[in-house]
Amino acid sequence: MLTDAPPRNSKRAGFLESDRIKTLDLPNDGRLLAIAKSIDSAMKAGQSAGVRRVCSEFLDIASEFYKVPDCGIRVLAARPLRVREYMATELFGDYAPETMLIRVWMRTALRKEITSFGTFLSTLCHEFCHHLDFQQLGFPDSWHTRGFYERAATLYHCARGTPPKHLYWVPVAGGRW
Ligand SMILES: [Zn+2]
Repeated sequence: MLTDAPPRNSKRAGFLESDRIKTLDLPNDGRLLAIAKSIDSAMKAGQSAGVRRVCSEFLDIASEFYKVPDCGIRVLAARPLRVREYMATELFGDYAPETMLIRVWMRTALRKEITSFGTFLSTLCHEFCHHLDFQQLGFPDSWHTRGFYERAATLYHCARGTPPKHLYWVPVAGGRW
């Protein structure tokens, strides 16, 4: 994981706040865990319509819990050529704040290999956290800060039923981690 560089303009305060917020409230009723298992089964069946349906349920449950508007979801077979995410490490999804639409894709662009369930669920949680940044936290932008990655990981481990991992950060050039 690599964070974005802090902006130098008026958005800097929001960036620093995003960096500071390392966790988020989690639903503890097991609903996300159950629906994540259905995503796994739907992926094994290999039908994008089925995967879309359960992803949509997952997002509805999460949006209800966080009291944010529902976001749309499209599940694509392969990665489109043009993607909004500018991070080279994020190969499996994007989020458009204007339309509140998440797109995730089930196969890599070049080798057409099916995405693993873990990567797919992690992408879904990552893109949903972009939605939360705008709709719940009220940030003017959704940066990849240390806090952002921690929040996305917290949601992922809740949905996956795995113990949260501690992330270690090492500073690199340009104020990034
Ligand atoms: Zn992102």
